[in-house]
Parts: sequence; C-alpha cells; structure tokens
Amino acid sequence: MLDNLGDLERTHSCGQLRASDIGKEVLLMGWVAKRRDFGDLTFIDLRDRDGITQVVFNAESASAAHTKAKDLRGEYVIALKGEVVPRDENTRNPKLLTGDVEVQARELLVLNDARTPPFQLDASPEALASEDLRLKFRYLDLRRPQLQANLRLRHRVVTEIRRYMSAQGFTEIETPILIKSTPEGARDYIVPSRIQPGKFFALPQSPQLFKQLCMIGGLDKYFQIAHCFRDEDLRADRQPEFTQLDVELSFATLNQVYTLIEGLFASVFKLIDVELPTPFPRLSFEESMSRFGSDKPDLRIKGMELQDIGPALAGTEFPPFASALAAGGQVKALVVPGGANLSRKVLDDLQEFVRRYGASALAWIKLGEEISSSLLKALGPEVVSRIPELAGAVSNDAVLIVSGKPKIVAASLGALRNEVAKREQLIPQNVYAPLWVTEFPMFEYHEEDGRYYSMHHPFTSPVDEDLSLLERAVEGGETQLLAQIRTKAYDPVINGVEMASGSIRIHRRDIQRLVFKALGMTTEEARERFGFFLDALEYGTPPHGGIAPGIDRLMMVLAGTDNMRDVIAFPKTASAADLMIDAPGEVDPRQLDELHLRVVQD
Ligand code: ASP
Repeated sequence: MLDNLGDLERTHSCGQLRASDIGKEVLLMGWVAKRRDFGDLTFIDLRDRDGITQVVFNAESASAAHTKAKDLRGEYVIALKGEVVPRDENTRNPKLLTGDVEVQARELLVLNDARTPPFQLDASPEALASEDLRLKFRYLDLRRPQLQANLRLRHRVVTEIRRYMSAQGFTEIETPILIKSTPEGARDYIVPSRIQPGKFFALPQSPQLFKQLCMIGGLDKYFQIAHCFRDEDLRADRQPEFTQLDVELSFATLNQVYTLIEGLFASVFKLIDVELPTPFPRLSFEESMSRFGSDKPDLRIKGMELQDIGPALAGTEFPPFASALAAGGQVKALVVPGGANLSRKVLDDLQEFVRRYGASALAWIKLGEEISSSLLKALGPEVVSRIPELAGAVSNDAVLIVSGKPKIVAASLGALRNEVAKREQLIPQNVYAPLWVTEFPMFEYHEEDGRYYSMHHPFTSPVDEDLSLLERAVEGGETQLLAQIRTKAYDPVINGVEMASGSIRIHRRDIQRLVFKALGMTTEEARERFGFFLDALEYGTPPHGGIAPGIDRLMMVLAGTDNMRDVIAFPKTASAADLMIDAPGEVDPRQLDELHLRVVQD
C-alpha cells in the first residue's frame, strides 16, 4: 500500500544536513539509493538531486517504520520523519557532505514503488552500463549525480550568459524555428507544409539571417539562446540539434566583438573558479595553420610547432620528399620533447595515426645517445643530422616528419601534435589556454566538383584590403584569386576546442551579390533563396557582425567531459536517434496523405 503525500513538505534536501543540524526534527524525501539490513537496524541511503543522506531505522525505537523499511527496494520514493543524530566517529563518511550525521527515522511513508532499474545507477564510471541502455532509460540515467551536476552547472552558465549579455545592453529576441534554409554548410532538416502541398520549411541551422535582419530592423544588440538543427554526420562533439548563444551587434568593430566575448567567457569560467587570461592572443588562420597545422591549436601544449625542413632537403632524391617538393608541397617536422624514448610500437601506431589524415608515411629521427632514424638509409647520416637542428630539436628529442600537399601535412601533423602530447602527457591539467583565430579564408575549393564554397557562411565580410580581389575574381574572371581572399571571421578557441564562430558581415548589397556569384549562384537562384534578404540589404543596413558560441561545447569544457551527451538532458545518439522516445519513427499513413507525401522504399 502506498502512502499519500498529503500536505507534507520537506524541511531539508538530502544534501543539506550537517553536524550543526544535530538534534533537529527533519522531514526528507527522495529515492532509495541503497538499503542495508543488519537485523534490528536497517540503513537507507536516501538520494535527491542535492546528495545522499544516511537514514537508520531502528527496530527498538521505531518498530513500525523499521518493519516497513524492510520492504523498500532501490528507487522507491519515500518520505521520512526523524531526528538528525551524529554518526559514530568510525562510521563517518568524509566522501559525503552529509557524512557526519544520519537521520534516525521515526516514521516512513512510501510514496511510490519502482521496478528494478535496468542498470546500476551508482556504478563507478568504468563500470557504468552501456550508453545505449542508459539513453533508452535516460530518465533513470539523469538521476546519477554526475548528470545532475552537469545540468545544474549548465543552468548556472546560461543564467550567467543572460546576466552578462543583458548588462552589456543586449536584448534577448526569439526567432522562428520553421524557416527557409540558412546555409551553414550542413544539410537541412525539413518540415513539409500541410496547408501548402509540395512546400517545405527548413529548421534553422542557425538564426543567421534573422539576427542580421534584427540589425536591419534597428534592434542594435541581439542575443538568443538558440536551438539549431544540422543534419550532418555526427562526431563525439556534435549533435543534430544543439544550442548556441547567438549574438549580433550593429556598428560592430572586430575589437568590440573580441572584448565582448572575452568578457563573456571570463565571467562564465569564473563559475568553475577559473580566471581566464584576457585579452586572448590572436593568430591569423594562415599563421595558425603554418605553426600548428590546425585552426584550433591547443596552446596548453608548449611549443611543438611545425617546422618547415624543406630547406634542409633541397636537392634530395628520396622520392617521397623530392616529389612533394617538386609538386609545390612541403616537408614539415614536429619535435617531441624527450621523444628519444618513443618505442618502435608507438612509432608504428603514430604511423597509422597520420595515415588517417591522408599522409602516406611518418618518418622519424630520434636523438638518443646515438641518432637513429627511419631515414638513415634513404638520406644518409649527413642530411639526417642536419634536420634536427633546423627543426629546433635537442638531445633526447624526437623529430617526426610528414611530406606531401600542404593541406595533408597540416592536417596530419596538426592532429599528431595533439595525439603525441596526449600520449606523452605533455598537456598540463587545469590550464585554460584561449586564443582567437582570425582572417579565415573566404572560400574553399572543392576538387570533387571544381567549385568554391564558403568556408564560413556566405554573409561573411572580406577584409577591406581583399575586396578588390573579390571584384577581380568575379567580374574580371580571375577566379583563382578567390582562394586568396581573407575574411573578417574569427573563432575563439580554448584548449584546442572551437568555442564559437563568427564574423563581421557583408552589409552592402553589391558585395553580397558578388559573393553569391562567386559561389556559382545565378541571380535567379540567389533571389529564389535569399531574395527577402537581398531586398532588406537595400533599406539602410548598418555595418554589423556577430558570433555564436556553442553552449554544448562550452559545457563540455566546463564540465571536463569528452562526451557531449553528458551535458545535454535528452541527447541523440551518433546515428541521430533518440533511443528513449524511439525517434525518428514511422508516422500514420493518414498523416503522410495530409502532407502530400509518399514513402518510396528502395
Ligand atoms: N551563424 C554562425 C554559426 O552558427 C555563427 C555566426 O556567424 O554568428 O556558426
């Protein structure tokens, strides 16, 4: 028989009681996390979102409650009245904030029973049930203290964001979810219209055009905690629906955006007692790629910058290096401090590792007592001994070398830098190293279809100096110049994680037209997709810019997890499914009829 809550109210949470509460009569409610029976004494760990309190049922002093407690099982929901008493010295639990006390229960109410959970909630991280099972029963998984802590931290972060942005004069404005495609480089999720047969909405990949329209609408400083949807192949740090702090401001200079966002991150990191160093250093995309092989370098790793060793190899006949250099490619090296002791096995693993990024091989030189190298035979001892010096290696280091197209050299050595630093424990803990990466290229050339694509989105402004290149490329037919155009785009990066992306926008219709043209869009296509926006640009658009920090990514860094699902209440799996509600799912054929849709099986 279950008891009624009636008008009972909790006096404390399960994480609240301390030695100073000894002697108080309390009323607690929560879930049974554990029950231990010792004949006349039955112990319960009572859990709620705040913590765990030990409760003891004594057969002598509270016989009815004690008898009733014998029937309690894991995850039963109970209420109990009793007195806070000290624990014996030797039974105190320093791991619990409530560990100095326990509650001597006098009265027990069973508010609800529970089926046996399909997995153990208090298992250690290594012993946790598979994530799929936990996602299917997410409402149980959410009871785990770690997820509770992450979600409460998330709430504090979002609250701080709102406070900070409001204090800076920004207005929170909601933008619609049922819209038209906004190009951010991913596939759209689309929603069929019932009322207009054959027509579709797209869900926002971001509120990009709306926030720019807010600027045209004179709203001046906009922000939104925005839900965004991108149908793309997922990785550990992506979700098909995610949240970003979307920001746009009028008459914005680059410096204004930098200062605003540095202040924002600094105030949010204070929530985890971290003082972020401001202002953040700035690196152009070009410099970042050349020094770190990445547009999101992890600056916690000291040094280990990519070194061009091409000059030491001029005239070499060793085919991989010779052909790379002849084809305008590169030979670059990475110095691993203390790497002379890297084993053959580790070097083989790293060889495999760089292949994943397209490199054909990884050559190495180790500066142990003697020089050893995979290149000795091919290059001879004289050339091999010149390389370490050029790369800045000293005794006891290792030099890792990749050759090929600049893109592949950068991607493989950039990833290798992180990998080696992780394996060799060269990444200091509890350090946060932010920076801005700036001046991203405007376009990327895709060899598959011989076309240029926007590297960010097509509303990103070129730097003033490169505007003439855009004109020459589009109007003068010098298409290859597109690859050289730099933009006023910027990404703040912390510890190798891209925390946001943003840019100063194009506010002139003539320039926006040039960009659409450069992307191979005819005037009709541009009108069809963005006519409303091109029109709006004609009615006095102020210069403006913005940015969008990803809140889920930010939370991963703040909560110290590699798994984005740990910071989202109801996340999707890597195959974009919700295992709990079993979505996506089929719909009733009648609904399809109403939507004028037919499913074609292949
Ligand atoms: N719309 C961009 C994004 O979602 C951010 C921005 O440019 O403000 O990544």
